[in-house]
Amino acid sequence: MTASTETICVVCGQTAEESTSALCGECDRPFHLNHRNDVDGKDCGEVWVDDQFLALRFACFNCVRGEAAPSGQPEPPVGKQH
Ligand SMILES: [Zn+2]
Ligand SMILES: [Zn+2]
Repeated sequence: MTASTETICVVCGQTAEESTSALCGECDRPFHLNHRNDVDGKDCGEVWVDDQFLALRFACFNCVRGEAAPSGQPEPPVGKQH
């Protein structure tokens, strides 16, 4: 067994395939992300659309929860005012 590029989810530690994983934009590590709605999949992170760059942003649950954030500075909410 010489799996050269085995992807390990940073959140749950289980193997993830490229088609069912994404790269976290915060810690730059792969995590489970189900890209398809018609297939049951595992989600170990979140994906959303960046308003500024109109690009998909990915973040694993570790970073979403802030547990793996290296800097101790909490970011202010970036939501729009209501
Ligand atoms: Zn996972
Ligand atoms: Zn992350």
